Amino acid sequence: MENKGYGTTGAPPYPQPGAPPYPQSGTPPYPQPGAPSYPQPGAPPYPQPGAPPYPQSGAPPYPQSGAPPYPTSGNMDTGMASFPPPTEGSYQGTQDQGVEPSCPPIETMDQVPGYNNVGFEGVALPPPSYDEAIGQRPETEVFKSTGTISAEDAREAILEHARNKCCWGTGPAEKMTINDLVSSSAYHYTLETFAESRTTKWVSEPFNAGNVYVTGNPPGPWDIPANPPQMFKSSKIDMEVPNTASVKPCHRCQGIGSTRCGFCFGAGRRNCIRCGGSGRRSEFRDGTEQRVSCGCMGGQEICSSCNGRGRNDCHKCRGRGTLRWFIQLTVKWVNHVVSHVEQRSSLPNELVREVTGEMAFEETYPRVWPIATFPVREINERSKDFVTLHSTKFNMEKILMQRQRVQTVPVTQVLYSYKDKSREYFVFGLEHKVHAPDYPASCCCGCSIL
Ligand SMILES: [Zn+2]
Ligand SMILES: [Zn+2]
Ligand SMILES: [Zn+2]
Repeated sequence: MENKGYGTTGAPPYPQPGAPPYPQSGTPPYPQPGAPSYPQPGAPPYPQPGAPPYPQSGAPPYPQSGAPPYPTSGNMDTGMASFPPPTEGSYQGTQDQGVEPSCPPIETMDQVPGYNNVGFEGVALPPPSYDEAIGQRPETEVFKSTGTISAEDAREAILEHARNKCCWGTGPAEKMTINDLVSSSAYHYTLETFAESRTTKWVSEPFNAGNVYVTGNPPGPWDIPANPPQMFKSSKIDMEVPNTASVKPCHRCQGIGSTRCGFCFGAGRRNCIRCGGSGRRSEFRDGTEQRVSCGCMGGQEICSSCNGRGRNDCHKCRGRGTLRWFIQLTVKWVNHVVSHVEQRSSLPNELVREVTGEMAFEETYPRVWPIATFPVREINERSKDFVTLHSTKFNMEKILMQRQRVQTVPVTQVLYSYKDKSREYFVFGLEHKVHAPDYPASCCCGCSIL
């Protein structure tokens, strides 16, 4: 398909070597109503009043006869020519100072039913009201308990721990006297709320060729089906909202497909770097310095950035001159997690969070109920707090699923003596992790080991 009038094919390229550079200093900036300018004769300038609507040959323009036009302005049915031309001082003024607009004026974007106030930054959309009532808890709460460890387990755990630490000696672990084991349980409660949020914004891409069809109203932002790849795992996807696309001239290059070269400021040539623009330079010949002709074009050379064209392909539209605009829907899934550790030992709570315990309770529902009958009162209280908090905290998101868990983490305080001194360490988690802050044969940086 030919793109006559869009500055890509058919038109001769930008000023050839020997041709006057573009734009001429003193000439008005492009485009000027009434003034002959770029593109070259033979190709009609863009857009042409009265020109057939874009796209051209092959397919009939949308909509078909009998169908009401949708939407009313700036879309395919009315053709590109109906797109309001850039007003003076907006496109031209900014481009002339070398600053291309990053996005078009918002009033030039289509009015899309159901998508008012869509901008160029993502705007969060509150979810429609949805059924939050869950009914009755289908089963009674059943909690599992956890076991204890032996003195042999305790010694093996600290031996293993000492072996894996680069500057820990294993001597104390082998020779220590284990006096007592104090077993307890730490309770690690987590509530996860897996929720979905949606945002929309206008985005554009270079438009190559073909037709853009709009076959009716777009679906509402929350009516577009999207499923998370995995429950309780944060992720996001972007998708195009159907029936929101239209083709418009590129706002950055005003539909020309190119922008003025920033290196030569459109001249196509610049001062030669070897002679500094004088056309002559010094050279040593037979031991003496002589002034010689530089060999460039009278102090000028072709601008290497634009190859003398004075203009470069617009990178917004990749030289096409047109952009395909559409509303992009971003669906984001976030797993919100709150947790609480309840325990009586002096083991830091952060360490308990890192290990696994026996799953004493786990349930997954669209909405969970606070745990009410766990043997540890604080867990019931925290569960109630967290469930209440999460029920109101994410009002710009739709809650898809909730999961709550209580892990019972075994914690054993090991009381031992070594060289007539009493100390302690902890073995905790199903992994038998060790926390021994005052282990006798440890140092931080490879110094002497006892
Ligand atoms: Zn240049
Ligand atoms: Zn030179
Ligand atoms: Zn462009």
